[in-house]
Amino acid sequence: VMAHIDEYFRDLPAEATLPLRALFAGGKGVSGALAARLLTRNIVAIARTFIAGESPEEARKPLQALIGEGRSVTFDILGETALSEKEAQGYAGQYLALTDFLAAELKALPRRQRFPGINLSVKISSLYSRLDPMNYDDSVLQVKERLRPIFRRVKEVGGFVNLDMEMASQKNITLDVFTSLLDEEEFRSWPHAGIAIQAYLRETEADLGRLLAWARQRGTSVTVRLVKGAYWEYESVTASQKGWPSPVFATKGETDRNFERCAAFLFANADRLVPAIATHNVRSLAAAMVAAERADVAAENYEFQMLYGMAEPVKHAVQRLGFPLRDYVPVGPLIPGMAYLVRRLLENTSNEGFLRRTFVERAEKVSLLAEPPLPPPAAEPKQEGLAPFANEPALDLSRPEVREECRAAIETVRGKLDGRYPALIAGREGGREAAVVSVNPARPSEVVGSVAAVSREEAAEAVAAARRAQAAWGGREPAERAAVLFRAADIARSRRRELMAWQVFETGKNWLEADADVAEAIDYFDYYGHEMLRLAAPQRLGDIPGELNLYHYRPRGVGVVIAPWNFPLAISAGMVAAPLVAGNAVLYKPSSLSPVNGWHLCDILREAGVPDGVVNFIPGRGGELGTYLVGHEGIDFVAFTGSREVGLAIAARAAATPGLGGVKKVVAEMGGKNAIIVDADADLDQAVSGVIRSAFGYQGQKCSACSRVIVLAPCYERFMARLAEAVAELQIGPPDDPTFFMGPLIDAAALEKVRRYVEAGRRDGRIVVAGNAPAVGFYHGPVVVADLAPDSPLLREEVFGPVLAVVRAEDLGTALESANATDYALTGGLYSRSPRAIARVSNELAVGNLYINRPITGALVGRQPFGGFRYSGVGSKAGGPDYLQQFLLPRVVTENTMRRGFTPETVG
Ligand code: FAD
Repeated sequence: VMAHIDEYFRDLPAEATLPLRALFAGGKGVSGALAARLLTRNIVAIARTFIAGESPEEARKPLQALIGEGRSVTFDILGETALSEKEAQGYAGQYLALTDFLAAELKALPRRQRFPGINLSVKISSLYSRLDPMNYDDSVLQVKERLRPIFRRVKEVGGFVNLDMEMASQKNITLDVFTSLLDEEEFRSWPHAGIAIQAYLRETEADLGRLLAWARQRGTSVTVRLVKGAYWEYESVTASQKGWPSPVFATKGETDRNFERCAAFLFANADRLVPAIATHNVRSLAAAMVAAERADVAAENYEFQMLYGMAEPVKHAVQRLGFPLRDYVPVGPLIPGMAYLVRRLLENTSNEGFLRRTFVERAEKVSLLAEPPLPPPAAEPKQEGLAPFANEPALDLSRPEVREECRAAIETVRGKLDGRYPALIAGREGGREAAVVSVNPARPSEVVGSVAAVSREEAAEAVAAARRAQAAWGGREPAERAAVLFRAADIARSRRRELMAWQVFETGKNWLEADADVAEAIDYFDYYGHEMLRLAAPQRLGDIPGELNLYHYRPRGVGVVIAPWNFPLAISAGMVAAPLVAGNAVLYKPSSLSPVNGWHLCDILREAGVPDGVVNFIPGRGGELGTYLVGHEGIDFVAFTGSREVGLAIAARAAATPGLGGVKKVVAEMGGKNAIIVDADADLDQAVSGVIRSAFGYQGQKCSACSRVIVLAPCYERFMARLAEAVAELQIGPPDDPTFFMGPLIDAAALEKVRRYVEAGRRDGRIVVAGNAPAVGFYHGPVVVADLAPDSPLLREEVFGPVLAVVRAEDLGTALESANATDYALTGGLYSRSPRAIARVSNELAVGNLYINRPITGALVGRQPFGGFRYSGVGSKAGGPDYLQQFLLPRVVTENTMRRGFTPETVG
């Protein structure tokens, strides 16, 4: 507590923090400990304003007080997002126990017909650890499994259960869970269930319409708790980060108006959708009362609800007017309740919030009751010229139509498997060698496609063709070349789902990972197109009269691109598009493990208008073809992404075989041995899920993947316990089925390699988790190893598989030492809430990409340019402002512009 206060408030002006500073005079020792205790007590007291107790028993007193005041209650267990099934089961058990507690406590309470006294509010995110829109059907099914006994128990004791509404990404799951569970025989005629509906969502009116149609068909009423929505900041920020249209209204006035419209809708249909109006805003309350009056709904047929600890004067007023009022009462420990507490603090302090305006700013009554303002009409977006670069939006699997499109694309591509693909040399089909047969790693007997392989002679022909084509291509206007990339981006966009499906089959990626790769490929086309335009105009250097210095770029010539399989479209697209737009010609050799995806890249570029010979598609088996081309005299540069071993061999060979154009340029992105440090004060919910995504996403087959997690001693045991439980539950299976988070490794050799490392882990340390995996296919379950000897290869070498080594560190210095003890410097991460630790790790962790309090994979073009140093790379960051220059030769032309004393710049 002391350290955090000091770190967070250190830079504030002294007068703002005087009381704190006085409190902490002396800093450490007795005064510090005392101050820390005082502060902690204060924080707990604030929390107690909104949280009735750590347990139902502790909440007994506040409960009795509320009942004494003539209020009803609904109880909620604090805690959102379960990381493991053990945690989810724990929450389900607590809801059952809470039901029993309420049944015992409230049995004497008089019962209103529509609203039983025993009332439970449930958050579905706490009930299933793999709740995820990608895993949609399974999420609905499993949440229902957990909810069914709770509904049953509540029904038995004559109570009421309400589903809270959480993030917009879970809205449809919540609605589906609610309606399909209540359609089950045992609940069909049960009227005592409800669901929260958020008025800040743009879709709410449509959802209410569907809910009403369903309730009419079911024939029994349900309750709708109308709220505005508590995740406005989260929704707005997440949507802007992912490039999605925001699901929530942009202004408070729109939310307030929608709240009133929805309230009127509920009262107009109160026979089937019983209104529970949840707001503290006097205008919103009044509007609901008027709507009730207009629809002639009697007060016993609806109720008002407000949050425990908020807006007491408003509550008293509502009660004085004779309306039934229910308090929403959360119980549970403070740490799991932190998110709830933060939402309440945000609401109480929000500039636009009703509570602050009423009780802090003491706004005029008239203004508080005024009609919510509408936003000014949006200005027409300007359409002129090229739009600035923006990342392609991420896939939103919470949308049913998007899931349907993905499913359809999977089936379409399934129907196109086992096709034949040619090589492309100067626009002609080629490939005289035996074809490269690409199989589905999840079902190796399934052939994805056979791609013709080129012979050495054909490769030499391709070099010659590229040299011929390059001259004309390099002479075209940069804007013309950029336009080809912009068209390629559009074509890839129009085929986005299909391209995603090809990756699912050929490289074993799940839907989200595969789609992210396609989106990144689109980004590379767009970004490098923009970059070329930026670099196209010659720059004038210096400002000396009589002298003109122009700095500009020309293409390098012809290059070979040797691409990996793990980002089969994106990395290939980046490595081809950058030299291409810079005016070079390339020979593109896809990985022999993902040649069909490589073919699609060339197909897109061909359609976009790349002239024959400028991009040649030259698949081949093994490394032989690549080695030959790297040494070829007609090659001016090499772009490579892959292992350190091959990268270094390429650099050596290129240096030893200068070509017609002189010394060859090598751009090589190699491996990583990436570490995440988990600080003693880290948010473990965030750290455990971030480490899992970083280590096991795409089975750990990313050069950015986390392969070591270094945990500070104070939280080591807690972190390990939660990590182990969550990893043991990771689902692994064929990625065409979106239920599975993990799929297969890329081939038998990769599987063998992972097995060898796991054996080493068994020898050098302790296997904490060894997850199961399907028998058919190149699967390996997730593995967590701890207590490794410091010289174990698991701590030094790149595994490229689902193996995570955990290291315990006594302090941050040791953690950094351990993280830096590797030849690589690619990605790294830190989970910490300490500004000092964040600053130190930012300085001292030797990596190209450092991620703080988030997973360490998934770099975005233009926003998080990607690449490392040491043995991780000898190039500039992909997707960054230095990348294109690697394929360009800078030149300066200096002209003496003075003619016998006449200097143009000095005239006028
Ligand atoms: P006001 O101050 O009038 O409104 C604040 C609300 O306006 C914000 O919460 C937000 O929704 C909206 N808002 C603020 N700024 C903007 C903006 N710039 N643009 C658009 N909209 C904006 N919330 C849930 O999400 N799920 C639940 O299940 C849930 N259950 C609840 C149960 C009860 C009994 C109560 C009382 C509230 C519940 N809430 C729930 C919280 C609720 O959504 C509101 O956050 C809270 O009640 C504050 O709204 P208000 O009308 O009281 O106050």
